[in-house]
Amino acid sequence: VGIAVYPRDGADADQLMRNADVAMYVVKESGRNGGRVFAPSMNAEFTRRLELEQDLRHAVERGELVLHFQPRVAERGRRLVGAEALVRWHHPVQGLLGPTAFVELAEESGQIFALSDWVLERSCAQLAVWHALGHRDLRVSVNLAPVEFARSDLVERVLAPLRRHGLPGRALEVEITETSLLQDQPEVADKLRRLRALGIDVAIDDFGTRYSSLNYLRRLPVSTLKIDQSFVHDLTAERPTAPIVHAILGIARGFGLHVVAEGVETEHQRQALAELGCDEMQGFLFGRPGPAGDVLGGRGA
Ligand code: C2E
Ligand code: MG
Ligand code: MG
Repeated sequence: VGIAVYPRDGADADQLMRNADVAMYVVKESGRNGGRVFAPSMNAEFTRRLELEQDLRHAVERGELVLHFQPRVAERGRRLVGAEALVRWHHPVQGLLGPTAFVELAEESGQIFALSDWVLERSCAQLAVWHALGHRDLRVSVNLAPVEFARSDLVERVLAPLRRHGLPGRALEVEITETSLLQDQPEVADKLRRLRALGIDVAIDDFGTRYSSLNYLRRLPVSTLKIDQSFVHDLTAERPTAPIVHAILGIARGFGLHVVAEGVETEHQRQALAELGCDEMQGFLFGRPGPAGDVLGGRGA
């Protein structure tokens, strides 16, 4: 419920309704099921988001999206195994925006489907280039949003760009968050199974930070766990996270899953992870997200 009060919040019915709407929007934003009285400060935020949402509508067609790739390595950083695709938006006025500034908005406004389709298409096009250069083992990971698992066409949407570029399923991995699994519907499991049957790997992103029930690990056909950056970062903290990383590696081993440590920034963290037995890593130490051309680096493009 959004509430606007005459005459403070509007001189006529139109204005009152508009401001009540703004207040209702704020309620929806903060998790629905509630009520708020309109405040003028709500307007600025609402207008800003509305404008950004409208701009986003044209971002794909105007070619404003940019796809960066961050290398993923194995064998203590010696071997490049692939890259994660991370989207950015070159906003005409606000400049280069990171995904945290607009992905959630895209999810709420339903534009995430067009955005992901673009990311999938660009990723596959890039993979085709790398494979043509002889790097046939390179794979790209694409982040998918929870809402995408609610729709029936997910598998077809992932498969289409692979087919278009003549790529095998194993060239692609999709990253999902624990939130996607929370929905715990049989349809989600079914989609994951179909992806895996096509050879497409399924990674759980930011593993260990959300409501990990762990129970899904035995029911869902996931293939990879990505250890959240916070655990990697605090490996050297006062209360180190090594026991958590150790536990995740143990669980992964038991289920036959791959593990990737995210956010590796220092030699010290790399060392600690290697000692714990974590083989695959990703982080600024090995390469920041950047243009596709940077990924191969000195590895012979
Ligand atoms: P994520 O999938 O967990 O991606 C890792 C994030 O950590 C990226 O931030 C990356 O730039 C950053 N990162 C990588 N290595 C390091 C490091 O060593 N240190 C630190 N401090 N950070 C590191 P980014 O690009 O801002 O992306 C943020 C989140 O936005 C991603 O988290 C992902 O959940 C989401 N996202 C990005 N691209 C897409 C996309 O195409 N679709 C969807 N649905 N979500 C996306
Ligand atoms: Mg990710
Ligand atoms: Mg992550």
